[in-house]
Order: sequence, then C-alpha cells, then structure tokens
Amino acid sequence: MLSENAVIRSATRNALKMMKDSGFEIPDKIEVVVDPKLPFMGYSTKRRSGGSVIVVSGMALKSGLVEGLLIHEMCHVYRTNTNHPSHNSELLNTVGHAVIHRNQLTESYQLDLIRQAVNHIQDLYADDISFQVFQNSSPPHNNVLSLCYSKVYKTYIYR
Ligand SMILES: [Zn+2]
Repeated sequence: MLSENAVIRSATRNALKMMKDSGFEIPDKIEVVVDPKLPFMGYSTKRRSGGSVIVVSGMALKSGLVEGLLIHEMCHVYRTNTNHPSHNSELLNTVGHAVIHRNQLTESYQLDLIRQAVNHIQDLYADDISFQVFQNSSPPHNNVLSLCYSKVYKTYIYR
C-alpha cells in the first residue's frame, strides 16, 4: 500500500500533467498538504512568497478521488494566476462589500450566503476548466473519475 505522501506526490504529478496536456499549464510552484481534520474536501490559496498551496482533507485522501480534487483546485490556481475576474480578490471584495452595504446585511447567515455565492461563481469558472481537463484525458476512466468527483464534491463541500 502506498504511503500518504506517495499518493499525494503521484496524484499531484498526474494532475499537473493533465492540466498541461489540456493547455492549462501551471508553471508556478504548487505545494500540496493534507489537513486530516478539514471538514470539507479542500481549498487552494496563494502564497505571499509566490506559488500556491493546495490543502486536501483527510477524507478526500481516503476517498480515492484526490486526483480529481487536485485538478479542481489547480483550476482555481490557474484562474487566480491568470487573473480571471472570478478569482480577482480585489474585485470580489469590492462587489461583496457593495452588496453587503446596499442591502444592509449584518447577520452572519447573510454574510455566509454572500461568501457561498462567491464560492459558487468561482467553482463554476474552475470547473469550466476542470471538465475540459477530464474530457481531454484518456483512458475513459477519467470521465468516470470526474463524475465520482463531482458527486463526492457536492456531498461534502456544502455541509
Ligand atoms: Zn472549488
């Protein structure tokens, strides 16, 4: 049985190759770490010093679908690195604050809804790439992977 590190290394290498082969190469450094207690599948963030970090939950690692999750997160990284409006934090903060201010939203559930709406928009644009990556991949098991991934993703991401 492969160690956790070997699984992550292999999945990261495969995901980066699939991204590159589909025309969405990420030249910057990407570090993948596991947070065993993370209550959702994973997330990505940019390092101030350059490059990105993808945090994968313990349950995502155990699901056997970590490669699909990594591709999804790498698509967020790609959108951020190419400064797509859906991943431009300055733009999103400006719009978010305007919506909050105009509608006088103060309750925490209201602010959570705004955050979730932004996350949905970001996921739509990330998955616009990830489904292209899955479709371009062969053998066909990658298409199955994408379906399984999206099912697991939907099950766990919105608790
Ligand atoms: Zn996402």
